[in-house]
Amino acid sequence: MEKPVLWMVIPCYNEEEVLPETSKRLKDILAVMVAENKISPDSRIAFVDDGSKDRTWELIENLYETDFVYCGVKLSRNRGHQNALLAGLMTAKDCCDIAISMDADLQDDVNAIPKMVDEYLGGADIVYGVRCDRSTDTAFKRGSAHAFYRTMQRLGVETIPDHADFRLMDARALEALSEYGEVNLFLRGIVPTLGFKCAKVEYQRGERFAGESKYPLKKMLALAADGITSFSIKPIRFSLALGAAAMLAGFVMFIVCLCTLPAPAALWISAAVWFVGGMQLAMLGVVGEYVGKAYMETKHRPRYILDKVLVRHTEL
Ligand code: UDP
Ligand code: MG
Repeated sequence: MEKPVLWMVIPCYNEEEVLPETSKRLKDILAVMVAENKISPDSRIAFVDDGSKDRTWELIENLYETDFVYCGVKLSRNRGHQNALLAGLMTAKDCCDIAISMDADLQDDVNAIPKMVDEYLGGADIVYGVRCDRSTDTAFKRGSAHAFYRTMQRLGVETIPDHADFRLMDARALEALSEYGEVNLFLRGIVPTLGFKCAKVEYQRGERFAGESKYPLKKMLALAADGITSFSIKPIRFSLALGAAAMLAGFVMFIVCLCTLPAPAALWISAAVWFVGGMQLAMLGVVGEYVGKAYMETKHRPRYILDKVLVRHTEL
């Protein structure tokens, strides 16, 4: 079998402090895998500059000049981690057999890369890097991440717990991903919907090598909100259930009024308030159901993705 061409895709936003070390470590690990005959010597390390304001792009250009293994992609402005990642993956798609995305700050363990490639060689199309230990994260980050994954699960969104964007995808998984036209990207939600054969590789999440997190609380909340609202219309449905419950409460109050005639005026009024209020909320939920449907339609997600096709053409 031909050795697969691997592209490492690294989104970078103001990462001048970590780039020299990250590029060196990635090059070393790629060299080892090439020497072991695991991957093709045509494999590449692609840095995506997400509109950095520091010297990140200059460093990427320098790397590109010094060694053929490095490539660079520059976005015209800061578009956020998910978009930068997609830009890198879509650039890699037509040049590689497998692409592995990881953060620039070396929190993702580079030693997990060969293990991911092994899983691919064993037949997996998508390999998720899963953190087995989050002790280096702050208690807040751990707690909020846990609550987030639980909420996602309750809302019926398929995500891989403790997996961020450290993952391997092969060419056909990338091709399938390219069919998703949505603007509010939450790759961790999209990738599990692709299907295909998946595997997991556990790794220890390390400390950021240098510099500060580029994901302040505001960006983290925006990502979480994107994750929920891009995949679930259950929050809209919630108003339908709540409205129906309020209507029922109002109805019960009416019955109580009728049974205890003459009932106090206050009870009649609150029965009416609950019933009418509930009815409005329930109707809002019904409208929401259509809005939700229209919203999901506008995404133009692929309705199916083919895994294999068996066709035998008869020879004439
Ligand atoms: N990043 C990016 N664009 C942004 C913010 C972050 O490309 O607007 C990149 C960043 O350079 C890093 C990755 O996304 O490679 C994850 O960011 P970070 O490590 O700061 O997040 P944390 O690990 O703190 O959640
Ligand atoms: Mg990080």
